[in-house]
Amino acid sequence: MRIVLLGAPGSGKGTQSQRLVKAYGIPQISTGDLLREAVAKGTELGLRAKAAMDAGKLVDDATVLGMIRERIGKSDAATGFILDGFPRNIPQAEALEKMLASLGTPLQAVVLMNLDLGILFKRLTGRRICQECGQVFNIYTSPPPEGKHKLTQRPDDKEEVIGKRLEVYEAQTKPLIKYYEAAGLLRSVDADADVDTVFKSIERAVSQ
Ligand SMILES: [Zn+2]
Repeated sequence: MRIVLLGAPGSGKGTQSQRLVKAYGIPQISTGDLLREAVAKGTELGLRAKAAMDAGKLVDDATVLGMIRERIGKSDAATGFILDGFPRNIPQAEALEKMLASLGTPLQAVVLMNLDLGILFKRLTGRRICQECGQVFNIYTSPPPEGKHKLTQRPDDKEEVIGKRLEVYEAQTKPLIKYYEAAGLLRSVDADADVDTVFKSIERAVSQ
């Protein structure tokens, strides 16, 4: 299974990735993790990435792509991978397509975790953490028993911040959806369901 997983913050993408990793024995390849690892190990690509970051620049696509290529070449990715956080734009999608084609391992599907923005907004802005016991609740979907906890909201979960994050996600993802639709690779999955149901939908979507 060679897939890209697209999903907004709060869509359950992380949970589903973990399920896929377990069920199929394939790695989840997150470009953020790859970058941190390469920098920490001081590999050639890592040094290049570090130089860019130290200069306050974005790491160029060729460097990130090189890291993905190296990662895909490892034995645990022989039967597939889940790409997470890449591509984020059309040039990256095109470069990825070329690279995978040259390896003879093209993408089989791009799975979009589809969820109404209003629902996402509630999932994300409803998060509250108990100051005393650290339990996480959601005032909309899993409210705490009354009066037992001292709830606070993290600054990152405030409405303006969440709104901005979702806007950025939408703006980034829309062109990718079109691109992969045109390529016949897009599989849209209803992410407004319990974890098992969504997982089954993803399995069905990928085997189409
Ligand atoms: Zn508590």
